[in-house]
Amino acid sequence: MPTLLSKSRSLLVCLIVLVWMARASAINVYVDYTYDTSQFFGTGNPQGGAAGVQAKAALEAAANYFSAILTDSFLAIQTPSPYPSSVSNGLVTWSWNESFTNPASGTMTSVIDATVQANQYVVYAGARGLGGATAGVGGSGGYNWSRTISGENTFSQSDIDNIHAISDSFENAVETRGQTSGFSRWGGSIAFDTSDRTWHFNHTTAPLASESDFYSVAIHELSHALGFGQVGSGTAWNVYVNAGNSTFIGPYARAANGGASVPLSTDLAHWAAGTTSTVYGSATSQEAAMDPDILNGTRKFFTTLDAAAMRDIGWELTTPPGVPGDYNNNGAVDAADYALWRHGGPLANEVASLGIVNSADFTAWRERFGNLAGSGMGFASGAVPEPAGAGMLVGGCWVLVRRWRRR
Ligand SMILES: [Zn+2]
Repeated sequence: MPTLLSKSRSLLVCLIVLVWMARASAINVYVDYTYDTSQFFGTGNPQGGAAGVQAKAALEAAANYFSAILTDSFLAIQTPSPYPSSVSNGLVTWSWNESFTNPASGTMTSVIDATVQANQYVVYAGARGLGGATAGVGGSGGYNWSRTISGENTFSQSDIDNIHAISDSFENAVETRGQTSGFSRWGGSIAFDTSDRTWHFNHTTAPLASESDFYSVAIHELSHALGFGQVGSGTAWNVYVNAGNSTFIGPYARAANGGASVPLSTDLAHWAAGTTSTVYGSATSQEAAMDPDILNGTRKFFTTLDAAAMRDIGWELTTPPGVPGDYNNNGAVDAADYALWRHGGPLANEVASLGIVNSADFTAWRERFGNLAGSGMGFASGAVPEPAGAGMLVGGCWVLVRRWRRR
């Protein structure tokens, strides 16, 4: 019989594993569909409801890509509770607002006293007719915060100390998310074109020559929402823009560009058209995601140069994740991964029950069978082996939990 002590120790091991996994990548790029008033990401999609579902899946995949590579830790933003004076009827209240371009209308809008979770980066997504050749737009948001006193302005010294501490903490969360330097924010907004355009929404297949690839545009606009190309005085981006000769001089970007400053397009918010790099985490050459345009029928991934600029403006990035479900990390989700799972791991690129080898890992692998490195695209090929039964499951906390239940 396990003692209470041994149970506790096992639980502690589980917690340590979970905490460690959570730290591997901290930022959660959270897509908020509140302003998708036309239901572009659902039944109102101009290409039909099924296309709307695919659009949402593709945008979530693009957001998840950034969640997997951004490793900063951001404070939560929560409007403090009102603070009553201990010596009068005075009351201090705080407020803040997010301001951003409403993706459905293109006009500035604001949300008052939203709660933003720790490490969450909120991106409001929607769609409207953007006109011309514009496939999408995106940008980071603005903010304001305030402190107001109502009633008598009489407070004890202890009240005043507390109020200052609350204000400082609130200001720190709203303005910098607790970061000491570089770009940090509550979030931003992105919009996709609904006018005369045929989108390719399925992010697991390649676009036809006549189609605009939605996943590629989502990666591009999310980058803008994360601060890439945010022109304006004093922005983290502008620090590294040499407007005199239209180049970007951030040290990481220069290093990724063979030591040379990187030419920018005339808007100073993109790389010059045709700038090439390599798909981030691979040696595959590709036009940068953050040049100003994309050809129909083309899929573009985030590149090493794009990632370098994100580092320059203050983001901490990890190397891109391997292919989810590629348990032996050979670049493909294939039968060898199944064999490794059967033998109890250890598993690289796990997507379910992290750190534990169990049936959820089999399901995750089967769903991704045939997926390849560097693409995020899945092309299933061949038969998928079935598991021989639950009895093979080995190792980890899952088994310990089962044992306790049995006894
Ligand atoms: Zn752009």
